[in-house]
Amino acid sequence: MDHFLYRNGVLHAEDVPVAEIAAAVGTPFYCYSTATLTRHFRLFDEALTGMDHLVCYAMKAASNQAILKTLARLGAGMDVVSGGEYARARAAGVPGERIVFSGVGKTRDEMRMALIGGVRQVNVESEPEMAALNAVACELGQRVPITIRVNPDVDAKTHAKIATGKSENKFGIPIARARAVYAQAAALPGLEVVGIDVHIGSQLTELAPFRLAYEKVAELTQVLRADGHDIRRLDLGGGLGIPYTRSNEAPPLPADYGALIREVLGPLGCEIEIEPGRLVVGNAGILVAEVIYVKSGEGRDFLILDAAMNDLIRPAMYEAHHDIVPVLEPAPGIEPHSYDVVGPVCETGDTFARGRMLPPLNAGDLVAFRSAGAYGAVMASEYNTRPLVPEVLVNGRDFAVIRERPTFDEMINRDTIPEWL
Ligand SMILES: *Cc1c(COP(=O)(O)O)cnc(C)c1O
Repeated sequence: MDHFLYRNGVLHAEDVPVAEIAAAVGTPFYCYSTATLTRHFRLFDEALTGMDHLVCYAMKAASNQAILKTLARLGAGMDVVSGGEYARARAAGVPGERIVFSGVGKTRDEMRMALIGGVRQVNVESEPEMAALNAVACELGQRVPITIRVNPDVDAKTHAKIATGKSENKFGIPIARARAVYAQAAALPGLEVVGIDVHIGSQLTELAPFRLAYEKVAELTQVLRADGHDIRRLDLGGGLGIPYTRSNEAPPLPADYGALIREVLGPLGCEIEIEPGRLVVGNAGILVAEVIYVKSGEGRDFLILDAAMNDLIRPAMYEAHHDIVPVLEPAPGIEPHSYDVVGPVCETGDTFARGRMLPPLNAGDLVAFRSAGAYGAVMASEYNTRPLVPEVLVNGRDFAVIRERPTFDEMINRDTIPEWL
């Protein structure tokens, strides 16, 4: 459920007509709903009530400062995967003790930054990384809390590019080697083993793979405790999927996910961390674009938008589907028309949808891509020297630009000319 609904035939973001934002900001732009963000965060938080827990928003899904502040105010921790994200989380006022540092290739500089600034725990993904972290911690005279990310070899049944829990993926250490690696970790003076980390992928649409992975984590917890490790924290990753179409697609609800965690892991008495990204922000954001031209091709019509793959790369990268809706609600009984929806970038990959049935549209009409809040703006680029897409946050009747569209001069002036030119 989200807060992008038609009222009197016009699409609103909460209480603001989307066209009003378009008139003020220009298109294309991302628009987020505070109420939806809040609702989704609380669903996760409530799903774990009664268990000692922290919901660490996986900020790589959408990392604008205003979004981070909105969630931090609700009590969210942050899951960061780079030094830049760590700096963003701190800049948004998130204290170190609520920041979890994940990622398969943390550099020593990034580790140093987190250790100096404060970190709840570092999720270690390999033996060489463990050695590097130990060295950095010792150099700073610290003992850093760690979990080790285990790869449970579970098929997440999601798109291959976002599956992370199979043995062939680059993530974590094979669960079969966990005992040996935990023993190594325990012997390192700069590290304090506090728990286990697992994350099997993104956009999971059933609970069964989570159950398989969490059962393996429960078993491993017992084994490691028997080996003498004080396993008291379980970081269960993110990955719960969202409905990208409004048809019959119904991924599990956070409450069901919480119930599964309680059932499988509750008896261990560990503190639970989860790291949802997509489900918090995905349906809390839309991308608004204007139709530039309607072009008749051979046997097909193209809807050419002013948004392109540089603004929203998910269709090109993951064959992702986004519902596209007109900002003016079509009158009842209007015959839909088939369009190939494309952007202006000089690549055939710059296609958002083929043969999409939409009400007849004309140049100047506004459309919205639904469910675009996660992995949308954060993956945007300035390819074709198209200005980085701006972001807007709505809160009730208010809206604010939370990232400005750069001017051409600003874009050009980021380049510097060597003295020999
Ligand atoms: C990407 C990622 C997440 C978030 O995944 P979602 O599918 O967006 O919920 C959580 N944890 C880690 C380690 C990740 O890499």
